[in-house]
Amino acid sequence: MAKTTHIVVIPSAGFSHFVPIIHFSKRLVQLHPHIHISCIIPMLGSLPAAAKPILQTLPPNISTIFLPPVNLHDLPQGLPAVVQIQLAMRHSMPSIHHTLQSVTSNTPHVAMVVDSFAAVALDLAHEFNMLSYVYFPISATTLSMHLNLPRLDKETTCEYRNLPHPIKLPGCVPFHGRDIYAQAQDRTSELYKMSLKRYTRCRAVDGIFVNSFLALEKGPITALKEERRGYPRVYPVGPLVQQSGDDDDDDAKGLEHCITWLDTQKVGSVLYVSFGSGGTLSREQMNELAYGLELSNHKFLWVVRAPNNTKADAAYLGGHNNVDPLQFLPCGFLERTKEQGLIVPSWAPQVQVLSHSAVGGFLSHCGWNSSLESVVHGVPLITWPLYAEQRMNSVVLSEGLKVGVRPRVSEKGLVERVEIVQVIKCLMEGKEGREMQKRMKELKEEATIALKEEGSSTKTLSDLAEMWKKLAWENQIY
Ligand code: UDP
Repeated sequence: MAKTTHIVVIPSAGFSHFVPIIHFSKRLVQLHPHIHISCIIPMLGSLPAAAKPILQTLPPNISTIFLPPVNLHDLPQGLPAVVQIQLAMRHSMPSIHHTLQSVTSNTPHVAMVVDSFAAVALDLAHEFNMLSYVYFPISATTLSMHLNLPRLDKETTCEYRNLPHPIKLPGCVPFHGRDIYAQAQDRTSELYKMSLKRYTRCRAVDGIFVNSFLALEKGPITALKEERRGYPRVYPVGPLVQQSGDDDDDDAKGLEHCITWLDTQKVGSVLYVSFGSGGTLSREQMNELAYGLELSNHKFLWVVRAPNNTKADAAYLGGHNNVDPLQFLPCGFLERTKEQGLIVPSWAPQVQVLSHSAVGGFLSHCGWNSSLESVVHGVPLITWPLYAEQRMNSVVLSEGLKVGVRPRVSEKGLVERVEIVQVIKCLMEGKEGREMQKRMKELKEEATIALKEEGSSTKTLSDLAEMWKKLAWENQIY
């Protein structure tokens, strides 16, 4: 009888954390068909619509168990989406425990892999006799930041943004304290204390997966793997990104609309503009962006979302469905730019857009999934971070890898239209832009190599799958 290695995977809510760990799971069982995954899915309200298609393409060796949904309205309001997601995880702990009892009663499982926002579930790995792993859908640089946070916290007496010198982490590009991730900007806050606890907890696991690859982040990855530094074992398994075809069914209309328009544009001429699954601008900033795009005279495809003056992540948990975002564009903008740009309300088939030859640049909020998708498709960036760890990603892309240009924020806290025109011209027509494009093409090649049979990320995953198999065999868990 063929022996099966059983593992548990626990995602968290929110499109850009839920989808990556599912991609990871699919790749794991595709490369190692002896693995079976029990995927226990905590629910915060309903799944984001764009996340549903990926569940329809799961292979038979991933079985899904949906937990009773936590109601968004039962959680404290006004908190950042990442905190709501983690609170929802806590509410789900009794049902996770109950489900683990049931799935492991007849079939012991070797390992548990949880998304980084589901870290609270790690405590259960020990109880159910499983190895514990965290999947971080982030860069190795940000992971290094998180793992070093307890040390930095002890060594620093002021707010990080007031540090007089850049923060230097082993192997990483130095970054200013104001670019550290959003929750660490106020060290007296509960949010900061929560994240400090979470990352301290994450240091005590059997291993950490990170969605990056050696050629992209050689410095941080090498440092994270050095045993003497006392980190858990780190497994770079990326770039794992959405593939064309993952969501074709649901998005067929939007897809056709974008692709038909891109087909009529010159190669490399279009700037794609998007702020991820949840990013929103203030009304004033949206206005500046509209004028900046128009005045640049460059072609653009802009995913427009209704503005929000208070929360940059306002749409993260699906808040963008009700309002027509086009009503917030400047007067006459749509008419004036009808030959220059395509406006797509709220959501575009990003991967298909980035893979189109007409797209020559990406103005992005630098979520890590978007950043990797840009790398995989060889598109250089204008890096416009909004929240979470996006400022750090922006530093990695623009100062470290030099495949992006970061606009300057004025004293009013705005990226003004003149600046927008300048960065667009720099990326789309300047010598600097051509150099960024060349470097991005090289990274694209490296990304392909990392995922080949003998590639670094494939081998990393294979070594671990072998270890689990051996363990299951030795303990007769199959
Ligand atoms: N995305 C998309 N269409 C959109 C906006 C986003 O398909 O209009 C996808 C994008 O391809 C990426 C994810 O949503 O896979 C966004 O993840 P990221 O980490 O970049 O940002 P976040 O949503 O966490 O801010």
